[in-house]
Amino acid sequence: MPDLPPLSVRGRLERLRDRFDDLGCDAFVVHDLVNIRWCSGFTGSNGVLVVTAGGATLVTDSRYGTQAAAELEAAGAGDVAVEIADQLVAVAAAAVGDAGRVALEADEVTWAGRDRWDAALDGELVPTEGVIAAMRAVKTEAELARMRAAAGVVDDALAAIRPLLRPGVSEQQIARALDDGMRDRGAVGPAYETIVASGPNSALPHARPGPRELVDGDLVVVDAGALVDGYRSDMTRTFVVGEAGERAAEIHDVVTRAQAAGVASVRAGIEAGDVDRVCRGIITDEGYGEFFGHGTGHGVGLDIHELPAVRRGNTDILQPGHVITVEPGIYLPGFGGVRVEDLVVVTEDGCRPLTNHPKEPVCPPSPPTT
Ligand code: ZN
Ligand code: ZN
Repeated sequence: MPDLPPLSVRGRLERLRDRFDDLGCDAFVVHDLVNIRWCSGFTGSNGVLVVTAGGATLVTDSRYGTQAAAELEAAGAGDVAVEIADQLVAVAAAAVGDAGRVALEADEVTWAGRDRWDAALDGELVPTEGVIAAMRAVKTEAELARMRAAAGVVDDALAAIRPLLRPGVSEQQIARALDDGMRDRGAVGPAYETIVASGPNSALPHARPGPRELVDGDLVVVDAGALVDGYRSDMTRTFVVGEAGERAAEIHDVVTRAQAAGVASVRAGIEAGDVDRVCRGIITDEGYGEFFGHGTGHGVGLDIHELPAVRRGNTDILQPGHVITVEPGIYLPGFGGVRVEDLVVVTEDGCRPLTNHPKEPVCPPSPPTT
C-alpha cells in the first residue's frame, strides 16, 4: 500500500452554497451519510448536515461527539458547528434558522422524514436530486490515490490466488482467499461482496459465491473490489479452468474486444452513453446482443455505484476526473458467462486504467506478482 496524500474537503461546502440560487434554496440539508462524508469528512453512521448561506452544522448523536469534531478538523471542513442530539431533525431545524426555502435530498429522505421536516420548519421544502452526487463524481488527486491503491490491492490479491482456480476448489474458498488477500495488502476489506461464479453460475451477472467446486472447462467470473480509506475499486476478470471450449473461447474473445473498444472510446467530452454504444455495438454485431442485459458501467468512488451511469442513452458528458467502469458481458443461460471490467479515470484525451490485472483467461495461472 503506497503512502496516501491527505484527503481534504476544503471548499466543498462553499461549492454547495454556490448552487443555492440555481436550486432555489436558502439552506441545504444533507441526509445521505456518504454525501455528509464527502462534504465534511464525518464518517459516523448517524447525522444530518445543515448548510446555510452563513454557516454549517453537523447534528449527530452522543456516540460521535468526539469523533465528529476530530474528523471535521482533520478533513479541513472549516467552520462547521457540531451539535449532539437524540432527535436530529428538531435540532437540525433550529440550525436552519430563518432560511425560507430548505433543500432536501428527495432521493434520500424517506416519506416519514419529509413529514418530520415539514412539521419542524416554517419555511418551504425544496426537493433536490443528485446535487452532491454530481459534485462527487469528479475526483481529486487524493481521492484518485485511494482508488488507485484499492485497485492495486485487487490486482495483486487476484494474482496471488490464481493457483486456486483449478478443479476441486469451491467458489467460496476462492472468494474468501481473495478477501483475505485484500486485507493482507492493507485494504479495509472488500468494497462489495466479492463475486466468484463458475460454470453455469457465471451466466448470472450477480451470482453469490457458493459451494460449487470448479471443474475443467468452466468459465469463472471473478468480480472484486477493495475498500481503502472510504474509497472503492471494481474489477472483473473471467478465467477458464483448463482448456477453453469453442463457445467459451468465442464469447471471451468478443467481450474482451468489446471491453477494449469501450475503454479506447473513453475521453472527456463524449456522452456516457457513447461508451455503452461502442461495447454494445460489437457484442450485437457478433450476435450476442440479447445476452448483454445490463449497462456497460458506472461511476465509482465512496460508493460502488455513483454517477455517471454508463448506460444506453445517458447524455451526461464525461469530465476529466470522472472514474467509471467499463464492463460489458455476455451471459448464456445454463452455459456460462463472461464479463471483463476495468476501472478508468477519464482524462482530456482518453483515460487511465486503475485496474491492471491481465485479461487472458488462461489457467493454470501466471505466477503471482507479489
Ligand atoms: Zn464489478
Ligand atoms: Zn462494476
